[in-house]
Amino acid sequence: MKKVGRIITLLGREYPDTRLALEFKTPLELLIALILAAQCTDERVNQVTRKLFKKHRSAGDYARADLGTLEKEIRPTGFFRNKAKSIKACTGDIVERYKGKVPDKLEDLLSLHGVGRKTANILLGNAFGVPAIGVDTHVGRLAQRIGMASSKDPDRIEAELTAVIPKERWVRFCHLLQDHGRKVCTARTPLCYQCVINEYCDYPDKTPGPKE
Ligand code: SF4
Repeated sequence: MKKVGRIITLLGREYPDTRLALEFKTPLELLIALILAAQCTDERVNQVTRKLFKKHRSAGDYARADLGTLEKEIRPTGFFRNKAKSIKACTGDIVERYKGKVPDKLEDLLSLHGVGRKTANILLGNAFGVPAIGVDTHVGRLAQRIGMASSKDPDRIEAELTAVIPKERWVRFCHLLQDHGRKVCTARTPLCYQCVINEYCDYPDKTPGPKE
């Protein structure tokens, strides 16, 4: 599809160093960062995980951690009580069923407490090098606005995108949409007048440029 190729090329020029904004070195670190990223900015998550990852090195460290202490450590990311419970339950599953190693198969990841398709796909794509499309808030919003997805349902958006994006570009494509969603195609007021993919976008309510 020519439109898809142009969009990838133009966004690629705009964000040549695009990558996942969450900092991590291992699949376990990315899993924890993704749990913390719910309703929180990536910058805030990175601030918290820089300390957290030095203290907790293994899934067992999290699973055995004192709940109250863990809550305090992750508090700045918001919803810290639920997130602490999720981290302990999820890492407990990893210790019990996967010998302490984050599994690298979609169905195994989905069997972990609190892990849905978005988290599982982002993990596969970014920590394991497996082609996958994780539909986060930016990917979902931009796919709909541009006209690459007709549904609001993340699972269906994933299916629609995987049908038109070349497989080897799935992960990078998500990073490009995330960068563009943060910098130009923002949720409230997209800056359509300075958008490099404007001519390929089907969004009916494009924002006009500021009046001179
Ligand atoms: S033209 Fe506007 S709505 Fe379309 S991708 Fe660009 S910023 Fe987003």
